[in-house]
Amino acid sequence: MLAGQPIIILRENVERTRGFEAQRSNIMAAKAIAAAVRTTLGPRGMDKMLVSSSGDVVITNDGATILHEMSVQHPGAKLVVEVAETQDDEVGDGTTTATVLVGSLMEEAERLLAQNVHPTVIANGYQLGMEKALAVLDDLAITIGFEDRENLIKIADTAMTGKSIEAVKEKVSNIVVDAVRQVATGTGAGAYTVDEDDIKIKTQVGDTMHDAELIRGVVIDKKRVFEQMPDAVTDARVALLAQPLEVTKTQVKSKIKITSSDQMKAFTEQERESLKKIADQIAASGANVVLCQKGIADAVQYYLAKSGIYAIEDVKEEDMKFAARALCGTIVNKPEELNATTLGHAEAAEELPDTELTVISGCDNPKAVTILLRGTSQLLLDELERAVYDAARVVQDAIEDGRFVVGGGSVETELQLRIRDYAATVGGRAQLAIEAFANAFEVIPRTLAENSGFDTIDKAVALRKAHADGAKYAGLNVYTGAIVDMREAGVIEPERVKTQAIKSATETAMLLVRVDDMMVTQAGKPGMPGAQ
Ligand code: ADP
Ligand code: MG
Repeated sequence: MLAGQPIIILRENVERTRGFEAQRSNIMAAKAIAAAVRTTLGPRGMDKMLVSSSGDVVITNDGATILHEMSVQHPGAKLVVEVAETQDDEVGDGTTTATVLVGSLMEEAERLLAQNVHPTVIANGYQLGMEKALAVLDDLAITIGFEDRENLIKIADTAMTGKSIEAVKEKVSNIVVDAVRQVATGTGAGAYTVDEDDIKIKTQVGDTMHDAELIRGVVIDKKRVFEQMPDAVTDARVALLAQPLEVTKTQVKSKIKITSSDQMKAFTEQERESLKKIADQIAASGANVVLCQKGIADAVQYYLAKSGIYAIEDVKEEDMKFAARALCGTIVNKPEELNATTLGHAEAAEELPDTELTVISGCDNPKAVTILLRGTSQLLLDELERAVYDAARVVQDAIEDGRFVVGGGSVETELQLRIRDYAATVGGRAQLAIEAFANAFEVIPRTLAENSGFDTIDKAVALRKAHADGAKYAGLNVYTGAIVDMREAGVIEPERVKTQAIKSATETAMLLVRVDDMMVTQAGKPGMPGAQ
């Protein structure tokens, strides 16, 4: 009786795609995501202008930012976007590379599937290929020391090329390297650690990008609250307060009930006394600087000024935390909690002339620095900040691991050749999959060539030839089209950027290739696909 009748096991709001259709859908999605960012790869890559639904404009060359702003829907595509996000979180650079690589791995998988190679064979081949790739990378990587400022600067430079901030690259690279070296702890290559939270990036609209500077201390984008306060203090003893410096209504009300004008006078008198007491307590603690996360009542400001105290209010929570860290102080709720141990210390605090900035320098904790960026527009500053963030992360990667590889499509070409050789030793169907894996790397030199206006096939062939002839650092000079030694050209990147990109791109491709059934619950309707 049941014969021929479909058995419904899914709710009607679940959309199901199966078999070849599911595979195709994921391959298309991965390729589409890769295509969306590939034109930005490399120094001559283009920028994208993105406009959000609320009208905010972002101009960027940064893969992770582009994908983030795109709000992708397709489940397979979302996984690819996650590759970029992980790359950004883990290493801070190489997001476009990782994304383009997944696209390429899926394209190769598509070819294999068309030849009836089973998804499991593909996934296994990719796994073997990845292990080989990591071994080859390790063999190619060059050691770099903490003292090697010159190469660290080149690493920062490489991460920043192609962003619309070329003009200040040199200055900014120097600042970044100094900042990261300043906060690094440990000794010996591979034994350093850098806590990114020790480096704060601050931006200020106005002045030009050339006015970027490294401040060994804290920068807060607030002026002092009251003109009568000193605009600078030395031997800064800094009170860090989380609560407003005012008399709360309930405090006063519980004390007096106003029924006559005399009492009203007493009330204001008492309120003034309470406010003065707040300022007195702060002064008595020995503080000469106040950072308050909330507001400071006018009367408190007045008394603080009388005591020669520099105060700023409405400080952002993250700035409070960074200040506590840098000044070795503790954020407290009430003035009575201020004492020699909760106060932070620095050599000086001052309001930078003609700005809205307070700078606290010569902090007790020398491992806290601020990179202050300036620029004529917020749009430009945002992109500069992203570039500086990337640069700081790659310098951190290089210092922590003590290893770098050469860029410009060099490492990828070497990987392609060596993994192909390895595939030949494996044989069988797996060989096909490993070869496909190897070929996927060609997308990097090809895209670099394409984005620079050169013939992609010519350049890929020339690169392979150079590498086959033993030039293992040969890469593409994206400005002249020449095949040159990238190590000499100073185009170098931390090994971690490549290892992370290869790992997450491969793992995601393996995951996607194995999917042959997709069940998507439609938004807005409750219910997960479940057997009924
Ligand atoms: P990602 O988001 O992957 O970091 P980028 O747009 O920063 O993407 O491009 C990185 C690629 O550009 C890397 O392959 C790197 O080796 C290459 N590259 C960077 N600078 C140069 C250069 N001066 N010459 C050639 N290639 C370069
Ligand atoms: Mg980059």
